[in-house]
Amino acid sequence: MSEIIEVVAALIVREDRIFAAQRGPGRTHAGLWEFPGGKIERGEAPRDALSREIQEELHVRSYSREFISTRETRDADRTIRVHLYRTIVESTAFECTEHARLAWLTLEEARTLEWTQADAAFLEDIADVMASRRHAMLARPEALDDLPARAGGRHIFRALQRPWDAQRPHYSIGHKCRALVETQYDTSCLHIAESLQAPDGTTRIIYELQDGARVETIHMPRDVKTPRVTLCVSSQVGCAMNCAFCATATLGFRRNLTAAEIVQQVTVALDTYGPHETHQVNLVFMGMGEALMNVSHVTEAIEILSHPYGLNIPAVRMTLSTSGVLDGLDALKSLSCRPNLAVSINATTDDMRTRLMPITRKYGLGAIRAALESWPYRPHEKVLLEYVLLSGVNDSDEDARRLAAFALGLPHNINIIPYNATPRDAFCAPPAERVAAFIAILQEAGCFVTQRVARGVQVGGACGQLLAKRAGRI
Ligand code: SF4
Repeated sequence: MSEIIEVVAALIVREDRIFAAQRGPGRTHAGLWEFPGGKIERGEAPRDALSREIQEELHVRSYSREFISTRETRDADRTIRVHLYRTIVESTAFECTEHARLAWLTLEEARTLEWTQADAAFLEDIADVMASRRHAMLARPEALDDLPARAGGRHIFRALQRPWDAQRPHYSIGHKCRALVETQYDTSCLHIAESLQAPDGTTRIIYELQDGARVETIHMPRDVKTPRVTLCVSSQVGCAMNCAFCATATLGFRRNLTAAEIVQQVTVALDTYGPHETHQVNLVFMGMGEALMNVSHVTEAIEILSHPYGLNIPAVRMTLSTSGVLDGLDALKSLSCRPNLAVSINATTDDMRTRLMPITRKYGLGAIRAALESWPYRPHEKVLLEYVLLSGVNDSDEDARRLAAFALGLPHNINIIPYNATPRDAFCAPPAERVAAFIAILQEAGCFVTQRVARGVQVGGACGQLLAKRAGRI
């Protein structure tokens, strides 16, 4: 048997490229595949290096079905090896150069090559494997334990979730283990396309995603008794809710963010701007998109972000804001790590709220109030009732009294948000005296009220302003 498995070759999908890799005598890297890119001679093209390696070193002689089914082989990797086996052993026209032609090509480039019918099917299978690979940021410690690596699952999980720790010798997992993770999981990473810092210290981070779409995360350091950072993360590219006062609505709905994209907004922002002590971090799901229209990915992200071996941000330091998508609240209720809830109210009659927030046609104020009455509040938990004040639209004394009537009887905190200008320019903020009078009526009625301090206005990073574009290029 040792003769049979002397050399084994595989095609491995890594990020969006296809690589040939090999393992055999003298290549005992605890199960790691050795990538040809690591052995390129000076001045040699990667493709030529691979061809040389294959022809001079690999000398493919035979392949073992037993090897293909060994325990260390996980599904995605196995699929590719099985197909390699079929391609090499069953194809009568096999030439080593075919491997070379495959290596370092994107899937799109590979598709343009001339293939036999059987090989073309193989490409489709690679595409399926690529599409179905789980992102490394979503792999739990138990799953990472399955990797044939010296570092345990908890160790690898920590290194992935806390990239700043992975630089320290004690927490490093080493480049070979990292390469192993890369062969088994999607390890693509969000890229900061732009960041703009406001005079108040707020940083507006614009991320570019793999498909070129852009989303925003707002990093807001606060000097309170103990320094804290609030991160406002996005859940969708654009938004379908079409709230009249919101810049994001002008983008329309593009797509839901994946759970990995949501987690990476946090890890990349903390890695770049800190803090690395995550007990100083508050998370709010109030960025672009309606979080409860992407509830499965948002809840998966929350579970990862609160995992004790990773960032360990407890759910009580997370707040999820919704425009009132009541279907999604049931999914949240069942979460073991349920975030605090914020609901955008913004009007005190269904008529006005429908004008401002079309979702009201489906979920009226009565239904929202009923859902909040039956919400499973933790001890001391309050629902945050957000109210964007629009001059002459929803800022009258009657509005204040109706808002108080809505809130009283609920464990609540009414958060008043004077309107921040957006390119839609259909509204304006009330003068400071009107805001004060509105708040006074609420307080006299017995409501608990706070006023949100606008952060990042100068760089277009305040509530309702997020567009994933630099202001002035809208
Ligand atoms: S306010 Fe929120 S829910 Fe409404 S359009 Fe903007 S992002 Fe969407």
